[in-house]
Amino acid sequence: RHTDVHNFILARVDKALSEGLAPSALRTRFPPEPNGFLHLGHAKSICLNYSVAERGDGATMNLRFDDTNPEKEEQTYIDAIREDVLWLLNEDASAKQLDDLPSFGVERFASSYFEEIYQAARQLVNKGLAFVCSLTPEEMTQTRGTLTAPGQNSPYRERSVEENMQLLEAMRNGEFDDGQHTLRAKIDMASPNINMRDPILYRIRRTEHHQTGAIWPIFPMYDFTHPISDALEGISHSLCTLEFEDHRPLYDWVMREVDFEALGAPDVPALPVQIEFARLNLNYTVLSKRKLKRLVDEEIVNGWADPRMPTIAGMRARGFTAKALNHFCRMIGVTRSDAVVDVSTLEFAVREDLNERAPRAMCVQAPLKVVITNYPEDREEMLDAARHPQNPDFGTRAVPFSREIYIEADDFREEANKKFKRLVLGKEVRLRNAYVIRCVDCIKDASGKIVELHCEYDDKTLGRDPEDRKVKGVIHWVSAAHAVPLTLHLYDRLFSEPLPEANKEIDFLEGLNPNSLQIVEGALGEASLAQDGGGFPLQFERTGYFIAAGPQSPGVYYRTVPLRDTWAG
Ligand code: ATP
Ligand code: MG
Ligand code: MG
Repeated sequence: RHTDVHNFILARVDKALSEGLAPSALRTRFPPEPNGFLHLGHAKSICLNYSVAERGDGATMNLRFDDTNPEKEEQTYIDAIREDVLWLLNEDASAKQLDDLPSFGVERFASSYFEEIYQAARQLVNKGLAFVCSLTPEEMTQTRGTLTAPGQNSPYRERSVEENMQLLEAMRNGEFDDGQHTLRAKIDMASPNINMRDPILYRIRRTEHHQTGAIWPIFPMYDFTHPISDALEGISHSLCTLEFEDHRPLYDWVMREVDFEALGAPDVPALPVQIEFARLNLNYTVLSKRKLKRLVDEEIVNGWADPRMPTIAGMRARGFTAKALNHFCRMIGVTRSDAVVDVSTLEFAVREDLNERAPRAMCVQAPLKVVITNYPEDREEMLDAARHPQNPDFGTRAVPFSREIYIEADDFREEANKKFKRLVLGKEVRLRNAYVIRCVDCIKDASGKIVELHCEYDDKTLGRDPEDRKVKGVIHWVSAAHAVPLTLHLYDRLFSEPLPEANKEIDFLEGLNPNSLQIVEGALGEASLAQDGGGFPLQFERTGYFIAAGPQSPGVYYRTVPLRDTWAG
């Protein structure tokens, strides 16, 4: 299903395949750090990595938790990430676990390679390519140099292999305090690329790790962990965002200098290549776990899965579908130039899917009572309404009709010109799925506010147009006696600032939209909504797409997206 897209990465993959890479050796990984929930940017990366895996027979994508920062990581994030990756790649919900996905490989933790990574460090020490450095973090910063000036060699750079081996082992045995020593690669302090200036490979952190417990008092750095994990898993294409372009020389250095066979790496035809692509930026929101975490911690939103959050869990709660998100990822494509995607592109993808797949229902947000004076008081009827006007496979639902109904207050005017195709005093309108009514009277309270309408219905207009005249407008309604009371959560953009992160001098929270959530009490839904089990959005006709909040919040609906405003009032 990702095969209808093309981009420069898939072109490189196809080239590798045409040059002899076995399709089953084609392997990617999605490597989240479990320090937060996944967001739409991660969705782009997942779709891309999985689309590569779909390219070859037997090719796979691994999920690898990049868990080398024990302080910031948590089990809840691991669980959430697993669930979100599965949900995103499982459009038809046929897979119960990641393993059931056709192109899924294995789930791994970078921390499960700690022993191999440590052995790789020993190899480098033995080759004279790594040393234990005892500079303080401040000294390290001072000697690193700048973009224009080279750094200075550490005074510990010429320690002997024996001394380095002893110190590394002592580090590993927990004999030192945090920050006392580091293990550094011995590359080139004069390199124009700061990442190559004797980068740190290991640091001491005497802290519990969620996977390895207290076994390891030292932790490998991302730039050392990542290439080794990739090689050990037999990754052929290691895809990452552009900010890692400058890290690629170090990635390749590790690939060259470490003997992976000695570490038990699988027999891959070639070592992994790192390819960078532009990260996704979306306006009116932020896509960074660190920033999203602030919204959660400062209780600006109601947790990571708040429907306003650009997290996969938040978007799912709001009724965005996996299909829509995959479609969005294909629409935006994969390039090497940074751009900001307009949030309307995302909403477009959501609407396109829901227009096809969301069953229809009627809900009145701001009810105005209508009495149909020529409809018998003791009568009610069950009307058949299509669940989907374009797709008969959806079947029908029963919509009760009776003498008293509610319409949208906005759908009535005492006077209006022809452009107003709704109900006007003295004129006719069609009630969706029911009859044509004519407004004969408009009742006001002492203050002049309209409180009730009196209408007459034409009993020959159920499911057909009157023969002698044209009735243009159609409005939605609910039967008063049968309506279900609803509370609607209407969402607006989380930020009113289009690019909340653009100005580094200003805290991004300054750009928040104070009205990102509007709660509408007293809405009325058609009777069939009492049976809505949730899980998938509905289209409230003429209003928007909504999804039931779930059994903990009965009667609450979240607005997924408004309908495009096509029927100008
Ligand atoms: P964040 O800054 O939100 O924490 P990250 O890059 O630190 O993001 P990781 O968990 O390390 O998050 O990322 C896992 C994968 O997702 C990486 O390969 C990363 O490049 C990719 N990724 C993260 N953010 C984006 C984005 N906005 N667009 C595309 N890919 C992204
Ligand atoms: Mg990261
Ligand atoms: Mg990050």
